[in-house]
Amino acid sequence: MVQAFLMAALAGFSVATSSPFMSDEVFSLGPDGPDEVQIQPPKPVLTLPIQQVESPNQDDRPSGTVIDTLIVHDTETPGVHKATTIANWFLNPKSEVSAHYIIGKAGEIVQCVADARRAWHAGPSRFEGREKVNDFSIGIELVNAQTGSDPFTDAQYASLIALTADLVARYNIPLTHITGHRHVTNYPGIKHDPADNFDWERYLVGVQEMLANRLVVRSVTPLVPVGVVGGSGGR
Ligand SMILES: [Zn+2]
Repeated sequence: MVQAFLMAALAGFSVATSSPFMSDEVFSLGPDGPDEVQIQPPKPVLTLPIQQVESPNQDDRPSGTVIDTLIVHDTETPGVHKATTIANWFLNPKSEVSAHYIIGKAGEIVQCVADARRAWHAGPSRFEGREKVNDFSIGIELVNAQTGSDPFTDAQYASLIALTADLVARYNIPLTHITGHRHVTNYPGIKHDPADNFDWERYLVGVQEMLANRLVVRSVTPLVPVGVVGGSGGR
């Protein structure tokens, strides 16, 4: 009944996503066009906990900037496990560094800069001919020693994949615009992150699977930080 109605309603028309009769999440056109309507079940929700605390090491993105790039870092901090330890370094105005997100060894996520603002994570850098990658990117730090043998944990991959899927969906970031600090820095001899043992294939395949199968919903709580240790990145 519903399908028959939709097929009649769709005959000869292109489908606008603003149609009051349907949403992208529930209905989509079949491969043969308007004559075929497929009903898809809603994607199961994955709730992503994010703790928030605000770093002073941030400023406005240039006016009109579109966020279209995601930069993966690691923190180069042997012996550190917790995202909050790195967050405390980002809270120190003297460090002059920050990132939008930090993912600890247990997969916990701390956000230090709002997406709309410019975090100071990539320093002097270039991506696809554009300078100052901080202007148009989101920076994610993975807590890791950067030795090449310190593992990125399963929990870190899981959180990174879910967070990335959310950001890709939110800002329409192309998967080809997800890259590492080491690939955009103007100082490749100094910045080597993420470390050699970071599994790009596992990460990017995971993001594609997440986008196809799950809807990521953030669960945000405020964070009261403790402790202070060093980090990386730059203005
Ligand atoms: Zn970095």
